[in-house]
Amino acid sequence: MTGKDETQTDANGLAERTFRAEPGSLYVVATPIGNLRDVTLRALDILRSVDVICAEDTRITATLLARYGVTTRPRPLHEHNEAREVERVRHELAAGRSVAIVSDAGTPAISDPGARVVRAVGRAGHRVVPIPGASAVAVAVSAAGLDAERFVFIGFLPTQAKARRALLREFADLPAALVVYEAPHRVAATLGELAHVLDPRRSVTIARELTKQFETIATLPLADASAWLAADANRGRGEFVLIVDEASARGAGAQTLAADTVRVLSALLEELPPARAARVAAKLTGIPREQLYERALELRRASDG
Ligand code: SAM
Repeated sequence: MTGKDETQTDANGLAERTFRAEPGSLYVVATPIGNLRDVTLRALDILRSVDVICAEDTRITATLLARYGVTTRPRPLHEHNEAREVERVRHELAAGRSVAIVSDAGTPAISDPGARVVRAVGRAGHRVVPIPGASAVAVAVSAAGLDAERFVFIGFLPTQAKARRALLREFADLPAALVVYEAPHRVAATLGELAHVLDPRRSVTIARELTKQFETIATLPLADASAWLAADANRGRGEFVLIVDEASARGAGAQTLAADTVRVLSALLEELPPARAARVAAKLTGIPREQLYERALELRRASDG
């Protein structure tokens, strides 16, 4: 842990440490993904005390800095000036200045600029200090209730259709959930593509506008995702994380039911609601009730059209 440590005492007499940026260090600072109160205390300590703040979009970062009374004016560091700016940062660190980099939202270097400057600075022997905070991938996974024990972070899929499909096929059979970032103008096409290439019975969590006013987190079978999105124009707005749960988990587990079992379940569903049909079928077959219930819901949805 670095950033010089200064102990202060708060109103309750509790010791509270504040951090000051140290000369010659690069700080990789995570910022909120929507709700400005999600900034961390240490991020503010560092932003208040560094000599230089490099930002992907200075206007966006200026809003955050103004909100917390940080007076240092951010300087642009984005993909178009990166090569030149990386050199400048290296010289500044060598001269004993401290530098922070931030992206528009979340953690730098996660589907955002940052890796190049970190690499160059680290190779030059300067200290690189991560200041952790929000990242949309972690926020979405935390609220998805995945069955999968592992997830693979894909980030943005390639824009070209052929390359997208090829990449998805590579990941299709992994025993893991898949996490994709998506923009509003492409989310409908991407959900369609996911259902086409992956098993449509896998469940998908659509996490939209996380930490913001219209935050929406919905989990449903991939097969139903396009219809869900189309049912309300607002559902297609904003920023998205899509998480497809592991193939063998939840929905896809139902596919392993024998045809006889599905017949029994279908017959019961003609007389009973899904939960009761699943309970009776579980007694008759010895198959776990949860698995039968998932399938009962699918059968009911299919028969409802
Ligand atoms: N560095 C960021 C991070 O740590 O999450 C990601 C930056 S990337 C350019 C932007 C993408 O992240 C968006 O298109 C969306 O997929 C996802 N994202 C960022 N903020 C989000 C939010 N509040 N809700 C849902 N997704 C978000």
